[in-house]
Amino acid sequence: MLRPDQYQRAGELLSRGDLVVIPTETVYGLGASALASAAIGAVFDAKERPRDNPLIVHVGELAAALDLVPPDLGLTRRILETYAPGPITVILPAPAWAVPEVRGGLPTIAVRVPSPEITRKAIIAAGVPVAAPSANRSGRPSPTTVAMAIEEMDGRVAAILDGGPCTVGIESTIVDARSDREVVILRPGRITAAEIARDLGCVVRLRDAEDVPTPGTRYRHYTPRVPVVLVPADELDAARKEAKRLPAWTELSLQRFGDFATYEENLYRAFWDAERAGHAVILAELPPEGSAEGLTDRLRRAAVGEYRRGELGRFVGGRFFG
Ligand code: AMP
Ligand code: MG
Repeated sequence: MLRPDQYQRAGELLSRGDLVVIPTETVYGLGASALASAAIGAVFDAKERPRDNPLIVHVGELAAALDLVPPDLGLTRRILETYAPGPITVILPAPAWAVPEVRGGLPTIAVRVPSPEITRKAIIAAGVPVAAPSANRSGRPSPTTVAMAIEEMDGRVAAILDGGPCTVGIESTIVDARSDREVVILRPGRITAAEIARDLGCVVRLRDAEDVPTPGTRYRHYTPRVPVVLVPADELDAARKEAKRLPAWTELSLQRFGDFATYEENLYRAFWDAERAGHAVILAELPPEGSAEGLTDRLRRAAVGEYRRGELGRFVGGRFFG
C-alpha cells in the first residue's frame, strides 16, 4: 500500500514496467506503462480481460494530451480544453509509441487526463503514458474505494496507491470527435451529451450501429450477485412494500442519496456492499428519461429487469417467495 504522498514511488514502479493500482476520479485503475508490451500483457492477465478489448491511456497533464491531437481535429482539441483533467476520454489516431496490445489492434487509442493531483504526479514521475483499465477482474464491479481495489488486485500488482473514495464513481464518458463535425458518445458517463452540446455548440449523438463500436461494449457487463431490479420513481413505494417481505434488501434512490450525482458516486460500492451483506434484492430507482445517462446506462447493464407490481418474486427467486 502506498499512501497518497508516495505518488513518486508509484511513478518509479510504473516506469520500471510494474503494475500499480492508481486512484482516479471515476474508478480505480490498473496502471502499466503504455510503452511496455510485457507490462500491458500483465494487465490483461491480472484482469483476466480479453486481449481485443483496448485500454485507456492516461497522461499527466492537458498539454501531453493536446500533443497527441493532430492539427485537423479542432473539435477534439476543444473537448480536451473544456473538460480535461476530468472524466472524459477521447479517441485519437494511434501515435507510433502505442504498442498493439494497448490498442487491441485498432489504429486508434483512447486517451484521458485523470483529475486527482497525486495520480497526475505519479504519471509525470513515471515519465511514460500509463494504460489503466478499471482495476477489477473481468466480470466484477469496478472498484471505487481502496478496500474494493485491494479485494480485486491484492497479490496481482506491485502496489496500490491510496487516493480515497472515487468522487465520480462510474467510468469516463468516451467520445469520438474525429469527424470534426459532430461528437459521438461511445460510452455515456458523468459528462453528458447535453452538456457537451451546450458547452461546445456542436452536434452530439449517442453511437449507433453504423459507428465503430467501443470494443468493451461487446462483452458481458458486470451484474451483481444480488439481482438489481429497476424501479421507476412512481413505483418505488409499491416495490418497497413488496420488498418488506424479504429478510434484507438494498434501496438505491434519490431519497437515499439526495441527487443523481451522489447516487452515481456510490453505485458500485452499494452493489459491493449488498453482495457482502447477502441482501435478497437491490431496488434501483431509474432516473427520468433523458437525465443522468451514465447512471442509467450502468443500471440497465447491471439489472435483471424492470419492476412490475406483484412480480418482485420473479427476480428474487423461490428462495424468499413461495
Ligand atoms: P475500461 O478501461 O475498463 O473502462 O475500458 C476501456 C473502454 O474503452 C472499453 O470499453 C474499450 O473498448 C474502450 N476503448 C479503448 N480504446 C478504444 C479505442 N481505440 N476505440 C474505441 N474504444 C476504445
Ligand atoms: Mg472496466
